[in-house]
Amino acid sequence: NRQWVLARRPVGQVGLGDFARTDAEIPVPDLLKGEILVRNRILGFDPAQRGWMDQGAGYMAPMALGEPVRGSACAEVIASQNPAYPVGSFVRGLFGWQDYAVVAKAGETAPISVPEGVQPEEALGVLGAASLTAWAGIKTVGRVKSGDCVLVSGAGGAVGSMVVQIARLNGARVIGIAGGAKKCRWLTQDYGTDAAIDYRTENVSARLAELAPEGIDLFFDNVGGDILEAAIAHMALHGRIVLCGSISSYNDEQPAPGPRNLSRMISYRLQMQGFILLDHLDQVPQASAELRNWLSAGQIRYRTDIQHGFDAIPATFLRLFTGANQGKQLLTIDT
Ligand code: NDP
Repeated sequence: NRQWVLARRPVGQVGLGDFARTDAEIPVPDLLKGEILVRNRILGFDPAQRGWMDQGAGYMAPMALGEPVRGSACAEVIASQNPAYPVGSFVRGLFGWQDYAVVAKAGETAPISVPEGVQPEEALGVLGAASLTAWAGIKTVGRVKSGDCVLVSGAGGAVGSMVVQIARLNGARVIGIAGGAKKCRWLTQDYGTDAAIDYRTENVSARLAELAPEGIDLFFDNVGGDILEAAIAHMALHGRIVLCGSISSYNDEQPAPGPRNLSRMISYRLQMQGFILLDHLDQVPQASAELRNWLSAGQIRYRTDIQHGFDAIPATFLRLFTGANQGKQLLTIDT
């Protein structure tokens, strides 16, 4: 059972040296009632994994040192003591950076059955956690409505690209922020945003002044930092800010200063709300059904970036923090 384990807790920027490759015994399928043995086929990569590597209080226990890195996977059931997960079916869950895992229907790694007809890359990609996060975040938390001027950061990525499209389908005018000309082209040409801002080459605040002279009604933030500060400066009266992620700070060794213009929250009566997908699991059936309808009607587009090979796992994770990933980051495990 090949594994990539967390060798040490990253200090600041996560790097290849924080992980170590080991080989453990393949778990013998001597399973307890309720357990299954799975073989990972595809891994999914999430910026949040960086936070789980840190010691300290979060919404999930920190990863343990020397254990396989916690991460999502789509896997085939190889042996089963649970009739809900028959041998040969596919499941997704937090099965970790390894070939095999024994999992029970409890706790953080609880497997979710992949419906028949859904491919593993769809289960982790367009119908996976990032899309569900986008749906719950922009609809339930953000309460997007027709006529809103919506701004989305990290808009070229897995969550952001779905947020912009769901907002557009709900009648909003949408501005996306992403890094680089190519991702900005995807935004306006493929995902239907009304405008795109390249934060690497453009002055975000100046562009917002041009593009949203009457202010932003709803800001969906995946990035934090300077982009959050720029957005606060251009919010409309009674605007809403949904904090989904803060990737610009995940590798900070020392906490970066917060937005310097928070007093604008008062004068403009703004609301700012953080959320975690785990709080919205009851909405997954509705969100999944709606996502599937939009997909089959050709109303949403989605990109997955599929890397290959067990040895490439840590380097693939690092792609998230340079913007190298071209859509939802996945990796197929060679067998
Ligand atoms: P993405 O597919 O968007 O990949 C990450 C992207 O972040 C990169 O491609 C890069 O895009 C951008 N990025 C990286 N570093 C920086 C930086 N310093 N400043 C600005 N942008 C940067 O990842 P996801 O869609 O999976 O995740 C997006 C956000 O959503 C993350 O913050 C994540 O933690 C959060 N999230 C929150 C959840 C929740 O329940 N609240 C659930 C899932 C995700 P670019 O090329 O544009 O720079």
